[in-house]
Amino acid sequence: MALEDYGASFVMCPACSRRTTPQNWRAHLQVCPSCGAHQPISAPERLASVLDAGSFVELGEHIEGSNPLDFPGYDEKLSDLRRKTGLQDAVITGLGMIDGVKVVIGVMDSRFMMGSMGTAVGERVTLAVEYARHSGLPLVLFCASGGARMQEGIFSLMQMAKTSAAIADFSADGGLYISVLTHPTTGGMIASFASLGDITIAEPGALIGFAGPRVIEQTIGQRLPEGFQRSEFQQDHGFVDQIVQRGRMRETLSQLLRLHGYGVMHG
Ligand SMILES: [Zn+2]
Repeated sequence: MALEDYGASFVMCPACSRRTTPQNWRAHLQVCPSCGAHQPISAPERLASVLDAGSFVELGEHIEGSNPLDFPGYDEKLSDLRRKTGLQDAVITGLGMIDGVKVVIGVMDSRFMMGSMGTAVGERVTLAVEYARHSGLPLVLFCASGGARMQEGIFSLMQMAKTSAAIADFSADGGLYISVLTHPTTGGMIASFASLGDITIAEPGALIGFAGPRVIEQTIGQRLPEGFQRSEFQQDHGFVDQIVQRGRMRETLSQLLRLHGYGVMHG
């Protein structure tokens, strides 16, 4: 469900059809000022919304994906998306401060092939986890993904094992990992690092699950209940610890980090 952009004059909320200015949407972090529906937000906007101004330092920016299977049209698609989004791939990773607490952070961007996970995403996330492990910093990952990237085939699927193994090591060393699930977090990502947080937060109304509801309905031949696999459903069933509005994400992360001793004992 994409935000409908009527030129520069106004945008219409896909959930409630109310209209407002693009400036107002941005000021509300791409959340509808009328009904509160959370729309996709770019990785740079997300970083700006949770980090202290000027604190971000990118890690792994030199890691780029390639076309290991010579998948037809994939090279062109990558260069086209790089030009359109200004991103090298579907995730940005780095160091930053949340309310004065230093963290390793990764943010997916759904504009880049639906945030799918190929080798570049898997490698950047793994390096971020390893950096957090070796530096003793907490890790915060904002997930948004349609799953593994089919154009990279098995190379994409092995990122699930690689990222999961890195997080297991980080966890064994006592590292804190906060996973934030945003719309949508599905497929290979929910089957790997997205679901391995010590604390799992979700934005309201996000689709969170392995197979999507349409695939499940077609497989079992039954209608699914209203709200199936949405954040609120996942919280009711114990998969999500807390649902947090985008506008309160920064203060919530700050509280959680301080509750776990970061920014206090760790300076
Ligand atoms: Zn709305």
